[in-house]
Amino acid sequence: MAHAARILWTLHPADTPCPRRHCPGCGTARAFRSSGRIRLNANGRRLDAWLIYRCTICERTWNRPIFERMARDKVPATMIAACEMSDPHLVARLERDMTALGKLSGRIEGGLPLVAKRCDVAAGAATSGARVRIVGAAKAPCRLDRLLARELGLSRAGVASLVGAGVLALEGSPQKAMVRQIVGDIVLLVRPSGLPEVEGAALLAALGPQPG
Ligand SMILES: [Zn+2]
Repeated sequence: MAHAARILWTLHPADTPCPRRHCPGCGTARAFRSSGRIRLNANGRRLDAWLIYRCTICERTWNRPIFERMARDKVPATMIAACEMSDPHLVARLERDMTALGKLSGRIEGGLPLVAKRCDVAAGAATSGARVRIVGAAKAPCRLDRLLARELGLSRAGVASLVGAGVLALEGSPQKAMVRQIVGDIVLLVRPSGLPEVEGAALLAALGPQPG
């Protein structure tokens, strides 16, 4: 029988802090991740600006105030422009302002983890799919479908469609774990045989270095 490439993903906490707050969607405290987008709202002569965060589990938004109810002529034009374009420098400064975050949240967590990818076992050239062991989630919590979407260059809907087609599956975990926070070490099975060849090859390449 054809054997699958064995790949190891080790999750490391990312450096973008995620404040933990009560999430009305989940009904409990959750880590919120910055969307990188600023919303500027004009109400008469008053301006509000928020950095938009999302619950890492249910995606409920939290508008983190940058300023609120400020007289328009008191806000520097450069600040208004930066908010209008969700300026990456302003966003990064806000995301990493631990003093400000500390006032909004009692606990700050890391962001969507960084993933170190390597061959798990040097087993010779794989001929069929891959078996990806994902470890380290205890220190770098995240939702599996969000992680896969980023790592595979897909939307979450794209990930869901691969799950539906049986291209992505979990070994020894219920399928609903795909849309939950990763608990413990998990094994992702990737079987791209039903995909067009180019798509399948791109999917396998995104998983990391292939043995052989
Ligand atoms: Zn939530």
